[in-house]
Amino acid sequence: MPRYTLPGPKSAELIKMSDEYEGGATSRQQPFVWDHAEGCTITDVDGNTYLDWTSGVLVTNVGHCHPKHVAAIQNQVGRLMCPYDFPTPERVTLSKRMVEATPSNLDACFMLTTGSEATEAAMRIAKRYTGRHEIISFYGGFHGRTMGAMSAAGKMGTKKQYGPVLTGHIQSPYPYCYRCPFDTTPDKCGFKCLSFLDDVVEANSTGQLAAAIIEPYQGGAGFIFPPDGWLSQLEQWCQANDVLFILDEVQSSFGRTGKLFMAEYEDLHPNFMPIGKGIGSGIPTSCLMTEKRIMEIFEPGELSSTTGGNPVSCAATHAVLDIFEEEKLVENSARIGEYMLGRLQDLQSKSDFVGDVRGKGLVMGIEFVADKATKEPSKDITWKVVDACAAEGLCVGVVGVYGSVIRVAPPLVITESEAEQSCDIMEKVVMGLQ
Ligand code: PMP
Repeated sequence: MPRYTLPGPKSAELIKMSDEYEGGATSRQQPFVWDHAEGCTITDVDGNTYLDWTSGVLVTNVGHCHPKHVAAIQNQVGRLMCPYDFPTPERVTLSKRMVEATPSNLDACFMLTTGSEATEAAMRIAKRYTGRHEIISFYGGFHGRTMGAMSAAGKMGTKKQYGPVLTGHIQSPYPYCYRCPFDTTPDKCGFKCLSFLDDVVEANSTGQLAAAIIEPYQGGAGFIFPPDGWLSQLEQWCQANDVLFILDEVQSSFGRTGKLFMAEYEDLHPNFMPIGKGIGSGIPTSCLMTEKRIMEIFEPGELSSTTGGNPVSCAATHAVLDIFEEEKLVENSARIGEYMLGRLQDLQSKSDFVGDVRGKGLVMGIEFVADKATKEPSKDITWKVVDACAAEGLCVGVVGVYGSVIRVAPPLVITESEAEQSCDIMEKVVMGLQ
């Protein structure tokens, strides 16, 4: 018997109300309504509890309602909330901290509110700085839903029937090695999709390329990680072609992959690094890390955002960085992530339906297929697993080009025993399908 029959009565009532009043355009989720959460555990409005593999979509990196984070926010809310472009101690000291924490060439920090705003700003600034207007992005990529960010999307689902997108956007294949677009493998391909960039540019560019934008791992496309060395070769390609390099760390930053920033794995030095999600651990905030030599082209007043860098967001981020240091959460991400990846790869070898498992630190994807030989994606099996996980007390969500990847992204405070319990649930559910 499953642990819960869902939705519970209070959840059912609120889901009905949501269907009636919220328009239904957000993504499908497990059938329960969150009431409160602590650390790695969510409690729904009916009192059922779930271990969280979503971090409220890769946001609550210090865990839900971490007392120190909550106290910092409460304290700031009672002191000062919004002076717009006036400097505040919270914003200025945070900018310094961000410059010190990110790659050495990134010596300017511009605060915003959402991830889309940060990627959008990077592309706009790249155009203004270079005087060129073209942007190259990658198949499967996701950079947000505002017009510029959407135009860089590499998934039709993000831009379907919103056309025309901005002119000057061109796309090239991403190394989705499990489903290689060139039908080869990383050990023998010589990074074919990277050398193919030259063909893409030759065929599609008018010679006005300003920047390349890429996620260091693709989140929305299904947690797809490029092979080692691929990103640094892309960075070299950008330098050789006089193209600015935008590394979209909105999702991959703040300890998610077992380093504070994923750029650290290959010692990357992008010209822009948009950062979001985990930076506020639940408080809406983002920033764009870039270079002073680029920002110097602007006259005062050319860039701003009403709530960007507000003191509440900045206080929240200061607390996140303090908690990371005190509780060694980035190290925890690497350590527990390794254990969970091992458990899930073991499951892949036992199950007929787990086609691929990949990840770094506390972000992994489990890709479900109807048949391991043909790799036919299976939404149906994916959703059977998702629903069964909810009934067993594990909160997960679905992403992927084919809607067939379950995200594994718990808060970075997850303990060994929570990791073990949650992997046990996933194993029980998946093996129950055989
Ligand atoms: N870039 C990446 C890599 C993302 O994953 C997201 C959000 N999923 C965004 C940009 C957009 O962020 P937001 O939803 O905060 O606008």
